[in-house]
Amino acid sequence: MDKNQVWAAVLQRISEKISRMEFCTWFKKVHLTEISGAAILISCPTEMNKNWMETKYHSLLLSNLKGVLPEIEKIFFDVKLELQNAPTQTPDLFQAKKAVRKLPNKPEVRLSPGIESRIIHSKFTLQNFVVGEENRFAHSACLAAAEQKLNEAKKYNPLFVYGGVGLGKTHLLQGAANEILRRHPEAKVVYTTAERFMNEIIKAIRERKTDMLRKKYRQVDALIIDDIQFFEGKEKTQEELFNTFNDLHEFHKQIIFSADRPPSDLVGISDRLRSRMGWGLSADVQMPGYETRLAIIQEKANEMNLMLPPDVQEFLATNTRKNLRELESWLNQISAEIEISKISPTIQSVGKIWRKLNPHEDLTLSENGKPGLVKNTDDIITFVSEYFQIPATELLGTSRKSEIVLPRQVSWFLCKEVLKMSFEKIGKDFSKNHTTILHGIKKVQELTRTDSAMARHLHALRKDLGVK
Ligand code: ADP
Ligand code: MG
Repeated sequence: MDKNQVWAAVLQRISEKISRMEFCTWFKKVHLTEISGAAILISCPTEMNKNWMETKYHSLLLSNLKGVLPEIEKIFFDVKLELQNAPTQTPDLFQAKKAVRKLPNKPEVRLSPGIESRIIHSKFTLQNFVVGEENRFAHSACLAAAEQKLNEAKKYNPLFVYGGVGLGKTHLLQGAANEILRRHPEAKVVYTTAERFMNEIIKAIRERKTDMLRKKYRQVDALIIDDIQFFEGKEKTQEELFNTFNDLHEFHKQIIFSADRPPSDLVGISDRLRSRMGWGLSADVQMPGYETRLAIIQEKANEMNLMLPPDVQEFLATNTRKNLRELESWLNQISAEIEISKISPTIQSVGKIWRKLNPHEDLTLSENGKPGLVKNTDDIITFVSEYFQIPATELLGTSRKSEIVLPRQVSWFLCKEVLKMSFEKIGKDFSKNHTTILHGIKKVQELTRTDSAMARHLHALRKDLGVK
């Protein structure tokens, strides 16, 4: 067996023992570079990947290597940056799944001239939409609608998906469009937003071409309109939509709408249109819970080839509390920073990025935990030492220099304020007696009132720590 065969066999074994997610995150670009007697050299594309191999996967690797080559006793690791551009390795086990995800190369529709739907993104699919309790019904409904025979959409028509901002409606609608196209590459599928649809109608009215517009939409096999709450109060647009709706529905062409509310709550939409919207099936999406969010983060990170340590993934899932809209820009920023710094992301570094994007939101380390990025004295020391650019050992030491004493007292102050520690406990951690701590904290409190620099420091530090 040559080394490539050995490695393929090892990867195959490993793929049976870990999740696809883990495999794609850590193994797909790792290669076996050399076999020399009882030793083996494994190369990783990044320093971080190497660290993970050494610390987390060493025994898994060794046992599976031994399974293929029993003489192996020792593994060495190195970093080969050029592996970042190497083709990814996917064992059979995961290939079956991959095949399902494959989409036609050109998901954009081959429409006759005049009908455009260039805003279907192939990246949103029903396969990479992570299903949890909160969106299962909406996801199944989209799939069921997309699976119907073309022009025989007798059930689920129209399909109405509703829910708050950033909960996955657009992803589902685009996913449905892609699914129809995957099943019927020849289909004419139009995905549009209510706003674009309206602009098109206004233009047609101005140019006296409404008949042409109507003809155009009659040709489509599926019409998908996103965010139709936008039609509220727009009577002329609603009238055109009403006509189009009737044309398409009569010929059993699939129609899918989304809105931020159920049809019954749409005000300023004519009764006849609203009642038609409720003819088929309505499905809501809600904010996914922690587990689903974690899975979504893993899916996105994986798609972006972004390696995130588990604690960072959990941190992101914990702090994505209201909607998922910012998630992608968050991950993009993290990815850009890793690219530049070549350092693996930590809760602290990711927290900093998050605060840049959401300056007014609290961060928290655990789902039910207190706000803030610190849970013990060590964390406070890390932040303060980084902030004042003083070694942590100095904060814990005995130096009387004022540029050390003050930051040290600030650490005590934050232990008290953020972690609600007792003077005794702080004293113990810093090897001081509790009256020294008490005086130090008082000093900081006084200074915040009299010294604007101290007030600024504390403000900035609280921000760093993720507390207001
Ligand atoms: P909406 O249209 O409801 O405002 P989007 O569909 O634009 O929300 O979703 C916001 C982001 O969250 C998108 O990047 C989308 O891919 C992602 N997202 C939301 N729900 C899921 C999910 N269940 N699985 C994967 N990604 C999701
Ligand atoms: Mg949307």
